[in-house]
Amino acid sequence: MSTPDIQNTLVLIKPDGLKKSLTGNILTKLAETRLIIVGAKVVSVSRELAEQHYIHLKDKPFFPELLNYIQGKMYGEEYKRVLAMVYRGDGAIQKVRDIAGSTNPEEADSTSIRGAYGRITTKGVFENVIHASSSTADSEREIKLWFKPAEIVGNIYPAKKAMAEAHEHFVWA
Ligand code: UDP
Ligand code: MG
Repeated sequence: MSTPDIQNTLVLIKPDGLKKSLTGNILTKLAETRLIIVGAKVVSVSRELAEQHYIHLKDKPFFPELLNYIQGKMYGEEYKRVLAMVYRGDGAIQKVRDIAGSTNPEEADSTSIRGAYGRITTKGVFENVIHASSSTADSEREIKLWFKPAEIVGNIYPAKKAMAEAHEHFVWA
């Protein structure tokens, strides 16, 4: 047996996945990987976060629609969010990509998450219900964009202590 290659990968259940109540189905499919979850949270996606996440696609004609999509703008207030998770384990990136399926849901294997549940909108956006990082460089960039060190269980990347600047923030009333 070869030595394990422990990787981390960012998984997002996109707004269409939440709207279609697919969270349970998607988590069940991903459980086949036997990977562990080291972080999970619901995120209201700002325009800035959307742009940073999809920075590699900024010159594509569908970029404005892609920002609307990941922000959930077309699904109503309750679905302007994503479920963000970090999966970790041996070969995590490819394992999750395989179960997610091809980017284009029409081309994706029909037993994959995207093949089973995705669609192409009339505006041409691939509504493919899930995001999965595609390389170790991408996953590190994406995980650091979406999560703070304290939101991850375990030290998956080096972190350092920093003094919090005085700032207004919410505490439970
Ligand atoms: N996308 C699209 N049309 C395209 C290519 C991508 O609508 O021709 C959307 C789709 O939702 C995809 C996302 O943009 O998941 C990010 O594209 P990327 O090429 O990074 O594909 P992924 O890594 O998500 O498979
Ligand atoms: Mg990608």
